[in-house]
Amino acid sequence: MSTVIPADEGSALAAEGSVAAWTQRYSGAVMDTFGPPQRVLVRGEGAYVWDADGKRHLDLLAGIAVNALGHAHPTLTAAISAQLGTLGHVSNFFGTPAQIALAETLLRVAEAPDGSRVFLTNSGTEAVEAAFKMTRRVATSSGVGTRTRVLALEGGFHGRSMGALALTAKAAYRTPFEPLPGGVEHLPFGDLAALEAAFTPQSVAEHGEIAALVVEPVQGEAGVRPLPPGYLAAARRLTRAHGALLVLDEVQTGVGRCGSWFAYQQPEIGGGIVPDVVTVAKGLGGGFPVGAVIAYGEAAHLLGRGQHGSTFGGNPVASAAALATLGVIERDGLLANVREVGALLRQEIEMCGSPIVKEVRGRGLLLAVVLNEPVAPQVATAALEAGFIVNAVAPDAIRLAPPLILTTEQAMEAARFFASLPEDLA
Ligand code: PMP
Repeated sequence: MSTVIPADEGSALAAEGSVAAWTQRYSGAVMDTFGPPQRVLVRGEGAYVWDADGKRHLDLLAGIAVNALGHAHPTLTAAISAQLGTLGHVSNFFGTPAQIALAETLLRVAEAPDGSRVFLTNSGTEAVEAAFKMTRRVATSSGVGTRTRVLALEGGFHGRSMGALALTAKAAYRTPFEPLPGGVEHLPFGDLAALEAAFTPQSVAEHGEIAALVVEPVQGEAGVRPLPPGYLAAARRLTRAHGALLVLDEVQTGVGRCGSWFAYQQPEIGGGIVPDVVTVAKGLGGGFPVGAVIAYGEAAHLLGRGQHGSTFGGNPVASAAALATLGVIERDGLLANVREVGALLRQEIEMCGSPIVKEVRGRGLLLAVVLNEPVAPQVATAALEAGFIVNAVAPDAIRLAPPLILTTEQAMEAARFFASLPEDLA
């Protein structure tokens, strides 16, 4: 281990060491929450990354739906560098043009009504925490006190901090950390009858008024499961009639990932609804840590002055990264690219002829290749050997969330990998 820290350590170190050597150092220094790294990566360009052994991989995961513009995009790099060289950080006692322009741009692409506002965060979890705090500000119908019941869905993932974890459904993530903030109930995924039942006068009289319903339009971590058609429209109707918030967690689905700025904006997903709160992160900064909560209309008043804050949220460099990412998506027509290349990728994998591929589900470039057998970990390992980065999101499902710049040639390359899978992988 070096005793002097070179000023350019991060980038200079890339030339040093092998995957094996770095992996050993990793386990001696990095907390074991993720297990050993699959590879240690040193460089990226476009849709490709290189590991410490110099091997090239087609990145079909993009940092889990993060690197919207791929790696080392020149516009993003220039925007970050220019902002850092101009004004790198200020406290939230001050505003910056980057922060203000980002908030304006998010409201524009969200088609948010007048009066809507944005709170900037550093991650998806923080965006969810802010949204959760908003739900605690919803008054009861009599105006006395607040409502504390929040509905979320089984299979839902919303982050790992205590509030976000209370919304996250998976017992293995929750149980070791109980007690979590109270009031959250999980309804069966996509079950319209259960949703209607929760909002009936009898149910409300028995269990209490509902402050909010928090859902992902497409559940990402649960295996890329889109909500059934009509679900969000029903959710909007019921929450509005009851005076509850409809919170959409678009941390994974937003920023073009599904082929529109936000997934709910697609008529077949959202049916033309306007939500109260949308959380966003992942792809927003193109790899730079930045998230946001968009509060539509009246919801903008739920967190009043002094009721929320963050040292880094709204940082000008993070804001410039997000602005550049949104700008390139718009300038280069990447929403259309996601729809076209996503449809091709889906079709080519579905028709690839592999006996272990059952179907492909998802939206745009957030897809799951569903397998006939629970061999997703083996497929992910075979992919890495073949130079493809994918993710075993469920025992029988491989998640693909490539950069939004993916080309048709790269989609065909990915489909050829699936075609090459042997029948017996177990
Ligand atoms: N919400 C959803 C829907 C997510 O997919 C994730 C991350 N997988 C989060 C929240 C948490 O975001 P982050 O990891 O940026 O904190």
